[in-house]
Amino acid sequence: MARWLNDATGHNITTNDLKVKKMPNPRNIALYPFYKTLKQPFNQFRRKVLLLGFILLGIAIIGTKQELVKAQESKINNQQIAYVSNWQNASFPVENFQGYTSPFGPRGGGFHYGLDLAAPQGSYIRNWWTGKVVEVWEDARCGTGVVIKSGDWEHVYCHLQGGVETHTASRYLVDRAGGIILLQGQVVPAGSRIARVGMTGRTSGPHLHWGLKYGGHWVDPGLILREMYAQQTRNLSSMERR
Ligand SMILES: [Zn+2]
Repeated sequence: MARWLNDATGHNITTNDLKVKKMPNPRNIALYPFYKTLKQPFNQFRRKVLLLGFILLGIAIIGTKQELVKAQESKINNQQIAYVSNWQNASFPVENFQGYTSPFGPRGGGFHYGLDLAAPQGSYIRNWWTGKVVEVWEDARCGTGVVIKSGDWEHVYCHLQGGVETHTASRYLVDRAGGIILLQGQVVPAGSRIARVGMTGRTSGPHLHWGLKYGGHWVDPGLILREMYAQQTRNLSSMERR
């Protein structure tokens, strides 16, 4: 089994930990009905029905074509983002990882803008990429949350242990039992412990809700993890050959 060594933290992650391949891509789901319409047997229709069908199909194609272009554009963009970036120093975001409990994509009539990573309550969360803490907050949904900005990227962490306090114009996340104080405005290196997995906000079990934005647009974190995994294992095997 290939081991994924996170050099920033010394924390090992195995290939078994990264079963993200089966996660559905919402953009593929959006394309499906378009291909399905092409496969329908039109020869069984009578002329008039056929003509009407063609008109309707024409309208449908114009509509779906626009959607298809839009969907392909965002798909390419996401893949290019993952491909062009260098993820060698990126950190897997959670310790004691147990599994992915909810993927990025449509969920219960809405859209889940992140990836859920289950881990026992109190497990440390590692900063994915060196950046600045731009916001710490508390709300009913995310619970105790943190946003870190690294260039064009923003990474969001939800359901954290502890809460937010303000003292002499500084705002910070505090989790005393975990020895965590994270100041808004602070710069944190990749792989550093920034918080712990908790149950704050709307959650049925301890997990990290991890969201990623590039240039203000949500990106599937599974895509980035796959690319990180590929690059870091490539790097590891080239080190072994030396
Ligand atoms: Zn979530």
